[in-house]
Amino acid sequence: MKRIYMDHGATTPMREEVLEAMLPYLKEIHGNPSSFHSFGREARKGMDEAREKVARALGASSPEEIYFTSSGTESDNLAVKGIARALSSRGNHIITSSIEHHAVLDTVKHLGEEGFEVTFLPVDEYGMVDPKDLEAALTDRTILASIMMANNEVGTIQPVEEMARICHEKEVYFHTDAVQAIGHLPVNLEKQPFDLLSLSAHKFYGPKGIGALYVRKGTKIKQILFGGGQERKLRPSTENIPAIVGLGRAIELAVENIPEKSAALTALRDRLFKGLQEEIEDIRVNGHPTQRLPGNVNISVAYVEGESILLSLDLKGIAISSGSACTSGALDPSHVLMAMGLDHQTAHGSLRFSLGKENSEEEVDYVIESLKEIVERLRKMSSVYKK
Ligand SMILES: *Cc1c(COP(=O)(O)O)cnc(C)c1O
Repeated sequence: MKRIYMDHGATTPMREEVLEAMLPYLKEIHGNPSSFHSFGREARKGMDEAREKVARALGASSPEEIYFTSSGTESDNLAVKGIARALSSRGNHIITSSIEHHAVLDTVKHLGEEGFEVTFLPVDEYGMVDPKDLEAALTDRTILASIMMANNEVGTIQPVEEMARICHEKEVYFHTDAVQAIGHLPVNLEKQPFDLLSLSAHKFYGPKGIGALYVRKGTKIKQILFGGGQERKLRPSTENIPAIVGLGRAIELAVENIPEKSAALTALRDRLFKGLQEEIEDIRVNGHPTQRLPGNVNISVAYVEGESILLSLDLKGIAISSGSACTSGALDPSHVLMAMGLDHQTAHGSLRFSLGKENSEEEVDYVIESLKEIVERLRKMSSVYKK
């Protein structure tokens, strides 16, 4: 059976070039970069080069601003908790949005349970945060705002630069979760005033279980893990060298030709949107019409459950998500769609297609055709569908 992968928002396949770069570090180069001997130095060289690649890809002023972590989740935890720990004597108020990934959302909630004051900014019907709401929420106790660059479920791109500037006027740190943005949106930290930025390799054709946190020089942050002195004491534990090397190679490739790659994905995305809207009745498009990730298509299909559609598509070899991968399986509808004002039933009928570089027009057309057939069949069996 033909298999079609349209779930790049959940994870991406690793590129051949990335595997090639990693292989020597999975085989002969096995040293611990903290060791002084030649084995250690070899491993450290691979790590240092990867750190330089990440810094260059982001436009960071120095590789020392890059800290390797185990994931996007850990980077988000470190950013939010690390700032909270460092600045708790100055203030206790943290701002985020109601549509963040759980790695930020639940970390902020956890700090709320510890006694921090927390604000969850609302979004409009397109999943967009209004910078004016952020401005209004700032108090003299605010220490951090964390707003994602692009949403993983509906793809909405937030005005993060404007929000970072608003924060800086009040000397408040700004963190952005850029996990979905890397490789799709240009990032240049020379110009973009973010204090902290999270990324994760497996979202841009790198290995799983490796991430990085950018921390602008001079930013006050404290460690949340305790152990050795790795990563300049901010993130102890022996570094995952093969994965770090893979991250370095993956980000180098991800930031090449972003305009061309985005244009190609956008064209494919629009073909999918158009086909779905022409072929299937009563579907609703979720997310912003223009300010959205190039590969993201999110729709709600009335009168049917998203989960039933997923199952039927999977039987045809087509892989997509309902809501986000982290919440599917759970019965709760997506917190992102609920924050955008969708009712439970509409949210439950929602599907996310996230396209990637290996998808083709033929695949898009096959998916449209398959989904049309599945929706018609499921609607015939649905008691709420009366047409
Ligand atoms: C995938 C994702 C994460 C989590 O990254 P992991 O490396 O899988 O832990 C965080 N934020 C966003 C927006 C994501 O899409």
